[in-house]
Amino acid sequence: MAEGCRCRIVAGNWKMHGARAALEALAAGLAARSAAQAESTPEVVVFPPFPYLSAVNQALGTGEGGGGIAVQLGAQDVSAHPQGAHTGEVSASMLADCGCSHVLVGHSERRASCGETDELVARKFARAVSGSLTPVLCVGETLSERNAGRTAEVVLRQLGAVLERCGADGFRNAALAYEPVWAIGTGQTATPEQAQEVHAILRAAIARADARIAAGLRILYGGSVKGANAAALFAQPDIDGGLVGGASLDPEDFWRIITA
Ligand code: PEP
Repeated sequence: MAEGCRCRIVAGNWKMHGARAALEALAAGLAARSAAQAESTPEVVVFPPFPYLSAVNQALGTGEGGGGIAVQLGAQDVSAHPQGAHTGEVSASMLADCGCSHVLVGHSERRASCGETDELVARKFARAVSGSLTPVLCVGETLSERNAGRTAEVVLRQLGAVLERCGADGFRNAALAYEPVWAIGTGQTATPEQAQEVHAILRAAIARADARIAAGLRILYGGSVKGANAAALFAQPDIDGGLVGGASLDPEDFWRIITA
């Protein structure tokens, strides 16, 4: 199923951590390292908190001009509405205006603590696509769902809501992230074989709708990725990179993951 033509992505989800100066420094350091990297590297995207998008975008710009990669900017969420009276929400066009190329959609922390349903996640995904952002759709099962043997059912239901609204075509310029909830921030990583099994299920589901789109789709693994386990995960045929939380705030470990 896996094809050799998918460029790896490593994404750093900074969640609600840090403050302006620390995140600017993190971004500037990453940009400088990336620009100096001569060999081919994966795409790198960072997802800072909303208030720091512009500051981080500027700090990332300081790394331009080298021979390496430019680090891209993403947001952690997007409104399902295009504009209007939606206090506290941020639209896709506002994110693009702040320099974002990517947006996370349906992160398990938002599904759990903000009550985001599959249907709402699908509307956000559609809004990102129509706003020319690259959505990174997060799916994943809880520990009790895994223990009950329901992993495939859960991730296919989450993916299915988006496929139903946007079709396989919606994934032409999108990425998928398999993030088992029990592995996020716990230090308990899925084994490469466990992750590969779910990635293959997800890719096959898209392939049933459009084999070409499925073959080119980047599917990231997220859940306690570290420098020490990244290479084994990324060696799997259907794992095309990582969505990294905690370790993306550690410049040395994040760089180890990027170059894994
Ligand atoms: C995440 O926030 O999406 C994540 C995978 O976190 P961590 O790497 O800390 O488990």
